[in-house]
Amino acid sequence: MAQVEAPAAPAKAAPKTPRRAIESGVPDNTPFLHPLMKKNYGNWKYHDRPRPGVLHHVAHSGDELWTVKAGTQRQMDVWTIRKLCEIIDKFGEGQVRFTIRSNVEIGVSKREKVEPLINALESAGFPVGGTGNSVSMIAHTQGWLHCDIPGTDASGAVKALMDDLIVEFKREEMPNRVHLSTSCCEINCGGQADIAIIVQHTKPPKINHDLVANVCERPAVVARCPVAAIRPALVNGKPSLEVDEKKCICCGACYPPCPPMQINDPEHSKLAIWVGGKNSNARGKPTFMKMVASGLPNNPPRWPEVSEVVTRILRVYKDDARSWERMADWIERIGWPRFFEKTGLTFTKYLIDDWRGSRGSLNASTHIRF
Ligand code: SF4
Ligand code: SF4
Repeated sequence: MAQVEAPAAPAKAAPKTPRRAIESGVPDNTPFLHPLMKKNYGNWKYHDRPRPGVLHHVAHSGDELWTVKAGTQRQMDVWTIRKLCEIIDKFGEGQVRFTIRSNVEIGVSKREKVEPLINALESAGFPVGGTGNSVSMIAHTQGWLHCDIPGTDASGAVKALMDDLIVEFKREEMPNRVHLSTSCCEINCGGQADIAIIVQHTKPPKINHDLVANVCERPAVVARCPVAAIRPALVNGKPSLEVDEKKCICCGACYPPCPPMQINDPEHSKLAIWVGGKNSNARGKPTFMKMVASGLPNNPPRWPEVSEVVTRILRVYKDDARSWERMADWIERIGWPRFFEKTGLTFTKYLIDDWRGSRGSLNASTHIRF
């Protein structure tokens, strides 16, 4: 009988390198710091501002660093970025840092480099400023260019407004720093600011019932509504959704997961102005902003009604606030009735959030219970 050989044992696989977790948090910023900033990190003796738009840091080691701050239009084409990089390479030292407000900060190690760098930036259209008690560049959300749910173009409103405020960006003549922000929907980015421009939907969504069944995950849309105003419904024999318009607070949260629930409207999507917000706890506690003007027309390409209200508030704040009072501190000192009196803005019932009806609406949702 022929001998059957046992099959050879499979070769042992080489041990694999364990897969490393992919860190997707905030990236390490140290490779992007100016070498002097890195070298003296946490070891600064003092810092000052020789002129608006320039920061000067002096380290215990004796090193000095000048940082020139300039505004950009945030959403830049490749030619503009190249132009900026050429200036940074030629007049700076090849280092740049973008701030959350779309400014650039360019560090140089010699005082003599500051003026030529400022001249090059200004002549290429990048205004130098935004430091200290200035009106800083507006923190703006993405708008139509980069997001799927905006009700307005944040970048356009920012450009129009900063054209009016460029002098205040380049000077440090406000009582304290002024942070502005825009939000192009009611629900997501943006944040607390001294003055914020926020889109405001005033009508419930209009539903295109022919598309809902093919495009929307109906349970997800129903769950998304913060006041439980959306119900599944059969319309013309097709599965769709319906909105209880008495409950709907026109927040727009159903539109992102279900575009057939169109809420953007050239006439009924408005803009509102909010004031007195502050994120930091420097010198005073953080504060929430409050709405002071509502129903302003969403009027591209220059949004003159919005610019008029914002510049009016800034003018009164500049004249009336004491040194170092932020917008919220000033309003708290003079009181809300005086704020409306001085700014000439009209106080209406639409500015009051009295939560009337919230027991019937919020309590019906899975999100908030009381
Ligand atoms: S504010 Fe809203 S619409 Fe604008 S970018 Fe953020 S998520 Fe998108
Ligand atoms: S998610 Fe907002 S806009 Fe949509 S139905 Fe509910 S309350 Fe109205």
